[in-house]
Amino acid sequence: MTSKPGLLLPCAVQYGQGRGRLHADDTVDPGDFACDRERIIHSAAFRRLEYKTQVFVNHEGDLFRTRLTHTIEVAQTARSMARALGLNEDLAEAIALAHDLGHTPFGHAGQEALNGCMGDYGGFEHNRQSLRVVDELEERFAEFRGLNLTFETREGILKHCSPAEARELGELGRRFLDSTQPSLEAQLANLADEIAYNAHDIDDGLRSALVDEEQLSEVPLFAETWSVVRARHPDLLRRRTIHVVVREFIEAQVADLCTESAARIAAAAPADVDEVRARHGPLLGFSEAMQVHHREVKQFLRENLYRHYRVHRMAHKARKVVSELFTAFMEDTRLLPGEIASQVSALEASEGEAGRARAVADYIAGMTDRYAFAEYTRLFTPDALT
Ligand code: MG
Repeated sequence: MTSKPGLLLPCAVQYGQGRGRLHADDTVDPGDFACDRERIIHSAAFRRLEYKTQVFVNHEGDLFRTRLTHTIEVAQTARSMARALGLNEDLAEAIALAHDLGHTPFGHAGQEALNGCMGDYGGFEHNRQSLRVVDELEERFAEFRGLNLTFETREGILKHCSPAEARELGELGRRFLDSTQPSLEAQLANLADEIAYNAHDIDDGLRSALVDEEQLSEVPLFAETWSVVRARHPDLLRRRTIHVVVREFIEAQVADLCTESAARIAAAAPADVDEVRARHGPLLGFSEAMQVHHREVKQFLRENLYRHYRVHRMAHKARKVVSELFTAFMEDTRLLPGEIASQVSALEASEGEAGRARAVADYIAGMTDRYAFAEYTRLFTPDALT
């Protein structure tokens, strides 16, 4: 399934026809999504993804996915599916590159801990934080805060949000109140995320030996792919077999998603992106059979990898680090580095205690795994250097 870039479906987001950026900016076209991609790649939050956990904490091994390599895999998958479907590749890629910018250190354990700490102050959600990073926290321009991305990229970043937040976000939050949809490129980036993490978590799980192919034989999609590859290449070493199986596992999902989605787009024939947005359910998706496979894979990973005692031990430490840092900084903001302390005071001046908490959460969420461990040591180990 190939098509040349630029041959867009009428219901794709068209180049040059965006809804505009957050702040007026004459230097850039409102529908220039490649510009969004550049701004994201040059951001500090993007670089920090290199040292943030996907499943395995960064120092556990050099071969496992980090938040950065996960993001690049999502972007690659989103881009190639966008091309196959006749959707806007630059936009799908920009959304994918930004989708995890707001992630805390230590993956989901870090996010849960920070959400717990922020319970009285509006909570913490990494997806909402990704939007906050691109809208407010990045400091790259003299004229405005944030990266000033297009409406379409920001729409794709915000995958879920509470009704209260949706009201605060105005036009961007509208669809959460109306139960309508984002662009097809946003739907695609979200599905590319699922394909990527299901496949690479199996890959990393196998290579870390936390799971093995024996256990994975209870996942039909994996078992089928494994036996087909084994029958074709009976003498292939295990390492290479894993690579071939994981690649074919991804290809099966990509092919299914593209075939099913192309059929659904053809049947619904939306005239433009506004007709896509007005719908009450997503147009893109897997076939029913593949959805069943997906649920099986997720359930397997939840039970066997994410709850593995070694992953769980690291998550336990991560929660401790995040919540103790939060409590210490909330109780005494003089412990914070100068520039961070002034950001905390500024938000506290305008929003009171909730503002202080939000600024502390911004600081912690921005940390890499190793920076968070280092801060913890500096703060709580009596003879550590400060
Ligand atoms: Mg992701």
